[in-house]
Amino acid sequence: MTRFIFITGGVVSSLGKGLGSAALGALLQARGYSVRLCKLDPYLNVDPGTMSPFQHGEVYVTDDGAETDLDLGHYERFTGRPAVQTDNITTGRIYTNVLQKERRGDYLGATIQVIPHITDEIKDFIREKDGSADFVLCEIGGTVGDIESLPFLEAIRQFGNEMGRERALFVHVTLLPYIPAAGELKTKPTQHSVKELMSAGIRPRILLCRADRPIEQDELRKIALFCNIDEEKVIPALDVATIYEVPLSYHAEGLDEQVLDCFGLLDKAKKPDLKVWQDIVHRIKEPESTVKIAVVGKYTNLADSYKSLNEALVHGGIANNVKVDMQFIESTVFEKENTSSYLEGVNGILVPGGFGERGAEGKIEAARFARERKVPYFGICFGMQMAVIEAARNLLGYDRANSTEFGPCDNAVVGLMTEWQRGEVKEARHANDDMGGTMRLGAYPARLVAGSKVASIYGSKEISERHRHRYEVNINFKDGLEEKGLLFSGMSPDGTLPEIVEYKDHPWFIGVQFHPELKSKPFDPHPLFVSFIRAALEQSRLV
Ligand code: GLN
Repeated sequence: MTRFIFITGGVVSSLGKGLGSAALGALLQARGYSVRLCKLDPYLNVDPGTMSPFQHGEVYVTDDGAETDLDLGHYERFTGRPAVQTDNITTGRIYTNVLQKERRGDYLGATIQVIPHITDEIKDFIREKDGSADFVLCEIGGTVGDIESLPFLEAIRQFGNEMGRERALFVHVTLLPYIPAAGELKTKPTQHSVKELMSAGIRPRILLCRADRPIEQDELRKIALFCNIDEEKVIPALDVATIYEVPLSYHAEGLDEQVLDCFGLLDKAKKPDLKVWQDIVHRIKEPESTVKIAVVGKYTNLADSYKSLNEALVHGGIANNVKVDMQFIESTVFEKENTSSYLEGVNGILVPGGFGERGAEGKIEAARFARERKVPYFGICFGMQMAVIEAARNLLGYDRANSTEFGPCDNAVVGLMTEWQRGEVKEARHANDDMGGTMRLGAYPARLVAGSKVASIYGSKEISERHRHRYEVNINFKDGLEEKGLLFSGMSPDGTLPEIVEYKDHPWFIGVQFHPELKSKPFDPHPLFVSFIRAALEQSRLV
């Protein structure tokens, strides 16, 4: 029997609802239950694929090729269960589905309304998860009180009624802000937010209270009284040093116990096995040394823009018992200033995924610095493309080598596959391009060249990794570049698409067309990140 847990948020956004949901999932797993997490997003975009990473953070890509909310990354990192397309839905998608049905005449002449048609569509999305796990955790994006959340709240209210208390539970995450002048944490916003939720007909049975300092028992009692919730179910959720401590901290405060109690499962529940989380936290808190990694990108002001990447670097650190000191460098600085002053002291350089011309020349410079100075270099997607352009310019002498992403060019070492197959790279074709649904998305296999560095890192000849890109390295430059030492060490199985490049005579210089960071987990770090951080550690011992 599947039980459903709905997680809503109140007071403010960015409370860590996604992390909280992921941590609860991990705790239930640690007690031997199977879990599935999904997210309902109230915004109108059909999916986050078209949203700027500045605004919305990273777009998380699933194996089955969906562009989803970054919280799905947390879910996967905490539970190990690969996210799928049907784990995320938005208002835009719900309306698209309903309107398509309406056009097809599926509603047999009925007037289409938010209730019941939109709410039914939301409920169908939730109901189809029935049977897929012991617990389905559904996070509702946004904050209670937002106009756009209303249909979602109504849908989960109805669903909760249909399932009954034995099968549905509402958990509300709130904030207790600290007011310095009063010297105390305030409970009023929490009371208001629960009231708001109750006015939508939803009575939370568990409150997760985010705070930046310990909450007095009196305050917890007060919240319980005003919000009509059992005292032990008002759970403090304090800030912790690393996100991987969240499961441990929530367990210590009794979250998983109270959830099981709500479902009447506590008596028969197993004690959780949290050793894996304790070990991870220990390694993060007590590293043996530090490596400095320069991340040369464009969205350097927001940690969320490269969420999975940051985490994958941390995972590489965990595996090597080192702290990874990430230095985010805006790549445009290299277009005006010498790279050396920024990159001289770093132990590794990573150029992550990216789109558009701005900052590209700076990334090319960073790749050049890494190649010439033999500093470990990890190029991911755009970072691989820039490294290949650098090689074409400086090793093959094609001064004007570039990517057609930035416009027509003479030596299109990176371009659309259709372009370089037909030799039409000089044609301008940007004007009318539709940017939605034109990317190579999701998991694709690649074959690794025997004896290459990547073959030994992966310990296998065939891999599968997730992609999100339009452009490809042009295979017509393969032979020339290989003669100069840039080995095309991973190819699509049909041999047409370069997936990985590496320098033969460099301690660690690897470019990958896919996004390995999406599959890395703290308890199962991605081999490329483990190896990259190890190379950086070795480099740090040399300097
Ligand atoms: N802009 C590049 C492309 O579309 C790279 C994309 C990426 O880095 N994810 O191919």
